[in-house]
Amino acid sequence: MRTIQWYPGHMAKAKKQVQTNLRLVDIIFEIVDARVPLASRNPVLDQIIQQKPRLVILNKADLADPAVNQAWVQYFQQQQLPAIAIDSQHHQRLKVIEQQAQQILAPKIARQQAKGVKNSTIRAMCIGIPNVGKSTILNRLVRKNVAQTGNHPGVTKKPQWLKAGKQLELLDTPGILWPKFEDQLVGKKLALTGAIKDSLFYADDVALYALDFFTQHYPNRLQERYHLSAADLALATPDLLMKLTTALGMKEDYDRASERLLFDCRKGKLGRYTLDQIGEAKTDD
Ligand code: GDP
Repeated sequence: MRTIQWYPGHMAKAKKQVQTNLRLVDIIFEIVDARVPLASRNPVLDQIIQQKPRLVILNKADLADPAVNQAWVQYFQQQQLPAIAIDSQHHQRLKVIEQQAQQILAPKIARQQAKGVKNSTIRAMCIGIPNVGKSTILNRLVRKNVAQTGNHPGVTKKPQWLKAGKQLELLDTPGILWPKFEDQLVGKKLALTGAIKDSLFYADDVALYALDFFTQHYPNRLQERYHLSAADLALATPDLLMKLTTALGMKEDYDRASERLLFDCRKGKLGRYTLDQIGEAKTDD
């Protein structure tokens, strides 16, 4: 995984690029990770795109808790932000994206039709922080490998339009913006899902967060996967990490045990989970 280090100049450049391309599109596809629908949002996107029509796409829904995916979709919809949850990697038909865009832009399309425009095209661009699946969605929609998976914000070139549906055209370069890394909890959530570079965090910090989270929300999965008892899960989290290390046969190598736990969480070995809780939405967003 290539990851970007965000510096102020770099952030300004990425923002400017999005602002420039914004003028070219009718609608924004804001891509977030369904496991962290708030933590994976860029902090200033609202301010950048202002009133531009938007569809929030909760991607990687296959990795998120199916019981809460829909609740998150509703959360955005309640904020007047149309939203859908998808799995772009395995989803056969992403037509729903074009259908949603058509619905959102229906008044505009109707106005154009009234003026005699028959086949109006919808122009869109994907925007999001690194690793949420922008390139995967783009590639799937245009059905060829045109978007480079990888992150190169601020590289300017002439915008190109790719046919992504009957009426939909996509900008070939997704807008890449930075995550909310100044917030420690958000940082840990992003690290746990693999969205930000490991070296930005101590593995044991993120592992302690993961143990806390799974003990609270999915205790059985921890017990089953690592052969822990209910009494183990009642331990203070650092003690639970020690227990886990022993259970994994790693003696006192807490770093290695932490890395294993993070690996397992990222690979879905502990099942599907959503780290952002609806209840946190007001304070977190
Ligand atoms: P970008 O940085 O936003 O362009 O993200 P990418 O498209 O490069 O995707 C980052 C990683 O997430 C890649 O390893 C993809 O294969 C994976 N990925 C993208 N979409 C999905 C999805 O819906 N489900 C799952 N499980 N993985 C996905």
